[in-house]
Amino acid sequence: MSPPFPVAAGRYEAFRLQVWSLASPVVRGSERLYGDELEIQAQWFGGEFGRVFSGTEEEKIEIVQFGHWNRGSGPDFTEVAVKINGELKRGAVEVDLDVRNWERHGHLGNPDFNQVVLHVFTDQPAMNRVFTRTEDHRNVPQLLLPQFTGLQGPPDFLPEAFPGRCVAPLSRMGNEEVDSLLIAAAQYRLRRKSERIRVMVDSTSGEQAMFQALAEALGFRQNKTAMAILAQRCPVKTLLAMEEPEREARLFGAAGFLDTGTFDSARAVTSRPYLQRLWDHWWKMRDSVETVPRRAIPWRFDGSRPLNHPQRRVGALAGLVNHWTELRPIWEENVNKLEKHVNNLLKQLQHPFWEHHYTLTSEPSKSALRLVGRDRLRDILGNVIFPGVIRIEPDYWAQYTALGKVDSNQKLRRAALRLFGPDTDRQKLFTRYYHQQQGLLQIYDDFCLEDASECRHCPFPEQLTQWRILS
Ligand code: SF4
Repeated sequence: MSPPFPVAAGRYEAFRLQVWSLASPVVRGSERLYGDELEIQAQWFGGEFGRVFSGTEEEKIEIVQFGHWNRGSGPDFTEVAVKINGELKRGAVEVDLDVRNWERHGHLGNPDFNQVVLHVFTDQPAMNRVFTRTEDHRNVPQLLLPQFTGLQGPPDFLPEAFPGRCVAPLSRMGNEEVDSLLIAAAQYRLRRKSERIRVMVDSTSGEQAMFQALAEALGFRQNKTAMAILAQRCPVKTLLAMEEPEREARLFGAAGFLDTGTFDSARAVTSRPYLQRLWDHWWKMRDSVETVPRRAIPWRFDGSRPLNHPQRRVGALAGLVNHWTELRPIWEENVNKLEKHVNNLLKQLQHPFWEHHYTLTSEPSKSALRLVGRDRLRDILGNVIFPGVIRIEPDYWAQYTALGKVDSNQKLRRAALRLFGPDTDRQKLFTRYYHQQQGLLQIYDDFCLEDASECRHCPFPEQLTQWRILS
């Protein structure tokens, strides 16, 4: 057994309890400042923000032509020319105060906005990534105006954007000491996830617990609960007793995606045979599976890339069940090089329909789409596979620490900024590996998100002096 697993997780747990015992919560107000949308649009059109930017996906964005004010309905600026990563795009630009206004203002379902090539905004939620997509499921590049990001930023005054009071004591700690803190926090986080799976296994079965955990990981943050409900309403044992077409009908029907309007709204002729096949099975089981409307699964369609549309997530779950025989040994046997093994398995997942469609009714995509992308793979490894197997074989910890980092997201960026300040070298040093990122997130969850005093009353900085590397 690798020695650090139980020791460091327990150390962090004790440290966390000690810090919390000293905390005195303070209620913080929620004052937010909002500028005037028209004013921002005028500044944009006047070139006050510049014309060369970096998009939310780090794309290089250059405004070649600002276009014309639109005085009618539709996007704010038309006949715009924008270079995105060097590729010239002509179309329209929408400028909002908040990224969520795209959906709040109904642009998502409005074909007039299908010509938008860039969505510009000055604010976005602190914790959740919100994507911009068109009515025809195209992902629209986004630009959070740099003048409104990070430290300078009106109108987002959430404290997560500011370096915390613990930057100073952390900067006085050696790299090894900081690393040992992150390792302990990561072990604690992994242990918590592992305990959750153990409880689920005890309450259901090993197979059903892993099936639900996989479904949750596929649902990402927005649809984690929805996917868990679906996995509970369609137990894996029941699905495995069915033939493939019947199984998929059960999943999509129970998800609530096979209503009578689905056929009519199918854009592509290519979707119809698949829909027809689902319906051929669904109508036979519908009465015994369908719930009353108030018990329908609460899917969230906002804030996800077209690639992560809930219907595609259910398609990916169907793909996993179709390959269950190859997946099952992962948590039943000792597997060498677990990451590589899982990666190879999930890369090979195939589904003739879901490799080419964003939704049940969309046009086919030009290129093939992976059923489980790189970010989902890392989530599945980190949230399902390793927590599942480590409770049986703690030696997997060494493999867990070798997992590479995930792409940075807003929560990670804010956590790194709060704890390490603007020292980008340290931010990079302590987010190179998945376990470091997990440790950082655990500290952020435990202390930053529990703090309501903008660091003033957080006892974490003082307690850091007590942290030592164990020899
Ligand atoms: S809330 Fe506490 S842990 Fe978070 S940044 Fe402030 S001082 Fe650091």
